[in-house]
Amino acid sequence: MTLKIVVATGNAGKLAEFSQLLGERFSLISQRDLQVEEAEENGLSFVENALIKARNAALQTGLPALADDSGLCVDALGGAPGIYSARYAGAGAKDADNNAKLLRDLADIRQRKAHFHCALVFVRHPEDPAPIICEGRWLGEVVDTPRGENGFGYDPHFFIPALNKCAAELPPEQKNRLSHRGLAVSQLVKRLPTEFGGS
Ligand code: IMP
Repeated sequence: MTLKIVVATGNAGKLAEFSQLLGERFSLISQRDLQVEEAEENGLSFVENALIKARNAALQTGLPALADDSGLCVDALGGAPGIYSARYAGAGAKDADNNAKLLRDLADIRQRKAHFHCALVFVRHPEDPAPIICEGRWLGEVVDTPRGENGFGYDPHFFIPALNKCAAELPPEQKNRLSHRGLAVSQLVKRLPTEFGGS
């Protein structure tokens, strides 16, 4: 039997990635296709915002729901841009604007340690008291000179010392294996079938 899940994203790439990794027993539908009205993300952490989105999608559709929230946390900036990563330079900011602001904020700072964080939350119904929560972290540091053409967001400025490369220099398969999102999804792939789909 296929188990239907609504995914609280309008991003077709993420939906395809989740569908592929979760396999045939789960049928994933974008909340956009079910005319779900987006929730206000007024949490203070990735996990709170992912929970808000998942509960909202479950409430409006009557289906179990999956949501994710992610961003870049820079140690020297107290974890900023964090949950505000997409709009760090203001509402409607483009990747280039956000990166420019990040480098301005770090101009006099030599300690550049940072990580990407991803929270992935699954609720069986809107009031699920025990959601499945999977989180992933990808450690690196922020560099001034951008490198690479792949990826999106902060990838050209996110340097991984062990690889001597920026995230934007990695082929997508390699990034998906190592990244915050990849790590969270691989936990979910292990937990969802047993904790929701039955064994
Ligand atoms: P979302 O929650 O996945 O939509 O990500 C929010 C924001 O965090 C994005 O708009 C990016 O600015 C940033 N971000 C999240 N994941 C990544 C990544 O893998 N690479 C670069 N930037 C990211």
